[in-house]
Amino acid sequence: MHQIKLWIPDMIYHTLIHEAEIWRPLETGGSFMGYVATNTDVVITDAIDAGDNAKHTEHSFLPDQDYQLNEFQRIYYESNGSKLYLGDWHTHPNNLPNLSLQDKKTLVKSATTPESGNPNPIMMILGGKISEWIINAVQFQSGCIYLNTFFRCKYTKLTYEIY
Ligand SMILES: [Zn+2]
Repeated sequence: MHQIKLWIPDMIYHTLIHEAEIWRPLETGGSFMGYVATNTDVVITDAIDAGDNAKHTEHSFLPDQDYQLNEFQRIYYESNGSKLYLGDWHTHPNNLPNLSLQDKKTLVKSATTPESGNPNPIMMILGGKISEWIINAVQFQSGCIYLNTFFRCKYTKLTYEIY
């Protein structure tokens, strides 16, 4: 079976590390656009930043939803629909890049919201200590939310390559 790989442009990789450093000790994040290759690899082409009205705390991050939506639409139309929503990223400045319960719930929500247009979104977390950001990237496989509270979330870890 093909081991799915996440492809991250060199410039975007450096931008994420830079943003992570600027916002430390607060969390930051954003989202990714790009495409899924015929071998099912996920290829990032564009990153959308947090936006001016994003909410950053030491243990949470909420992007500026209106700004993100405008950017999705702009990038989608400018690429004639070839660049799609791939998923999100955020930082854990004081912790390992493992998915928290809230992160798993966010991933299920993003996968099960038809408007996101992506049934297998990715989530990337940058965690760790100063100048030693560790990347953890996963892709949603299956799951659902029950009664708005309980949920099941199955995902697989992705390897990544910077291009
Ligand atoms: Zn998190």
